[in-house]
Amino acid sequence: FDVSSAPVLNNLGKLRGIVLVFHDITELKKLEQIRKDFVANVSHELKTPVTSLKGFAETLLDGAADQPDIRDKFLTIMWKESERLQLLIQDLLDLSKAEQGYALELQEVSLATIVEEVLLILEPKAEEKGIALKFAVEGATTVEGDGQRLKQVFINLINNALNYTPAGGRVLIRLKESAEKVTFSVSDTGIGIKKEEISRIFERFYRVDKGRSRNSGGTGLGLAIVKHLVEAHHGRIHVKSKVGEGSTFTLVFRKKFTNN
Ligand code: ADP
Repeated sequence: FDVSSAPVLNNLGKLRGIVLVFHDITELKKLEQIRKDFVANVSHELKTPVTSLKGFAETLLDGAADQPDIRDKFLTIMWKESERLQLLIQDLLDLSKAEQGYALELQEVSLATIVEEVLLILEPKAEEKGIALKFAVEGATTVEGDGQRLKQVFINLINNALNYTPAGGRVLIRLKESAEKVTFSVSDTGIGIKKEEISRIFERFYRVDKGRSRNSGGTGLGLAIVKHLVEAHHGRIHVKSKVGEGSTFTLVFRKKFTNN
């Protein structure tokens, strides 16, 4: 608490009492801490690939460039690290835009068409990992929404399902129409998420397993972006998961975005 006080005087200027005002600053302190943690996380995440780029460049300049096999190996690593850096910067920009509540470009969009587009991008990855990727649609799936943003949401969720499911697993995407709503879900037979972690995975940079997430190319920002975008669409998101069995991420969208 932060306390401020002021005397209360009568019309002769004599003290009658004191007013104490208590400001609850716990919420402010918490927000300030979240902001500080975020800056520390961003700095750390940026520093790691830059340090590695610098190290490899120095070694190349010191003579390693004369040995073609070593040079190629180092350049490949540097290329991968730059990609990571680029992805991280893109995710940070996307998150910042989403947090500022930028204007959505609303149109009637078919969620089924968007999912088909996403599958074109992600099917090769599923095949490479030996994961059976299936898609089932029930009813009409037209909603009012921003197609580009919704595509980003689906890419993130389906990509996660593929990342956190071992080879030989299954990923099932469903779209289902009901009275006023369209429900999207993606279920995987992957590693699952502990109950106490589920509420945290939407936090910026929160990862259950940092190493695993990095190896799969994750920035730890995907679900934070997803949550903002879904909420911007007045949609809802639920997660059901069991460790060792798999996870289901469900999104519920209203067909009409503006009127209700
Ligand atoms: P990342 O880039 O690390 O995947 P996300 O924000 O997309 O970042 O997800 C945050 C964390 O939530 C992940 O690091 C992972 O631990 C967990 N997670 C997300 N999706 C799944 C899933 N389908 N199965 C298991 N864990 C998941």
